[in-house]
Amino acid sequence: MTTLVDPVPGGRPGDVPRATALASELSGRGVRGIVLAYVDTAGIGRVKAIPTARLPAAVAWGVGMSPVFDTFLADDSIVTTDVLGSPDGDLRLYPALDRLVELAGQPGWAWAPVDRITQEGEPHPGCSRTFLRRVVADAEERLGITFEAGIEIEWAVGLGSAPEGDFVPAVSGPAYGATRQVELSDYAADLLAALAAQGVDVEQIHPEYAPGQFELSVAALDPVAAADRSVLVRQTVRAVARRHGLRVSFTPAVSAEGVGNGGHIHLSCRRDGRNLHAGGGGRYGMTAEAESFAAGVLAHLPALTAVTAPSPASYLRLKPSQWAGVFTAWGRETREAAVRVVTGMTGRREQSANLEVKPVDLAANPYLALGCVIAAGLDGMTSAAVLPEEITGDPARFAPEEAEARGVRRLPTSLPEAVERFRADEVLRTALGPVLADAVTAVRLGEAAAVHGLDDARVAAAYRWKY
Ligand code: GLU
Ligand code: MG
Repeated sequence: MTTLVDPVPGGRPGDVPRATALASELSGRGVRGIVLAYVDTAGIGRVKAIPTARLPAAVAWGVGMSPVFDTFLADDSIVTTDVLGSPDGDLRLYPALDRLVELAGQPGWAWAPVDRITQEGEPHPGCSRTFLRRVVADAEERLGITFEAGIEIEWAVGLGSAPEGDFVPAVSGPAYGATRQVELSDYAADLLAALAAQGVDVEQIHPEYAPGQFELSVAALDPVAAADRSVLVRQTVRAVARRHGLRVSFTPAVSAEGVGNGGHIHLSCRRDGRNLHAGGGGRYGMTAEAESFAAGVLAHLPALTAVTAPSPASYLRLKPSQWAGVFTAWGRETREAAVRVVTGMTGRREQSANLEVKPVDLAANPYLALGCVIAAGLDGMTSAAVLPEEITGDPARFAPEEAEARGVRRLPTSLPEAVERFRADEVLRTALGPVLADAVTAVRLGEAAAVHGLDDARVAAAYRWKY
């Protein structure tokens, strides 16, 4: 479970002695440094690192970093909002001790996600992890709802020896092909060993559809832990690949054409520990609250896209009939609907039933994406929103009149269109607060401007190795 309370100057009660013991244990095992990780508004993982012995000082007083990264773009240029993007000021990074883990793929290193607070000891309003902690804490306090979440990870594996900037798939076999599994057998085995050593519960790993693509899914956790885990797993996938002479990319679209890399979110709501998506009187066992939650996610999806598909490259992936879920529709196990209702096997529904949200990729900051999807769902739940009729099959085949009659609409086809929908969405903006909401808008418009006039191939190339 995640500690949901904010860090405080001097450290949360008990943190300093715990960090002191941890630091000496890690040093004894040859861990030299600790990576302090967060994800910026653009979805880029940023880090600082400290020698292991500095851990107690870091949990007490934090580690300095400029707030300017909140409005960095993927190419490291900077945009501004009313309050962000200036060279002034400093924030303190506070490592989350309950998530600190020795990196099996990077001997000598440990890793921890951070919350960011000001020098005055206030939570930083631009901190996405703090945002998600608060959304989750508030849902529990106000509504008695808790969540289980998981983020799927798809990535492309390329040859490390490829010419700079190019992607040359490291495997040649077909989708889900046994040949691919054999070709990357040693890499995949080392990856599984590293993740197991880090306590990551992998559920599946397989060769996926696109050239060189693999996918990995992990067990569900509370949302903050699930977001932390998504960042950690990607760090490990990358680190192990390098040791095998491979280069990986989580970009939504390695190439302009074809199937992209998704980062589908799985989410279920619980009340008193009971899964609201199973054993109810609604469709496929959903309770009335779970149906309304799904209706809320569907209703806000066009605006959510600005958060869950944040890169110009995201819109190369978000195309019909490629399992990315680009229509505002839901269906049971329908892989072309944006929201897929997963019931799981008879006999295990209480554990397994959940919603999968598909128009999400791994350029998305996972804390912002989960927090906003939850805020959208809770808006549906608290307003008793009505879930429309389900669809079956590929909504791309509906004639325009049929699609209209069923309320099935294409999600935004460009980042500026998504931003327009986001700006008009008071529920998401309120959940994020003005500082984060303005940062999302400014960063997205900055990314759109950065690729203005580029053709699709150049857009794919511009982001190929950023995520
Ligand atoms: N690669 C697809 C995507 O872009 C997803 C395939 C799947 O359903 O796993 O989202
Ligand atoms: Mg997949």
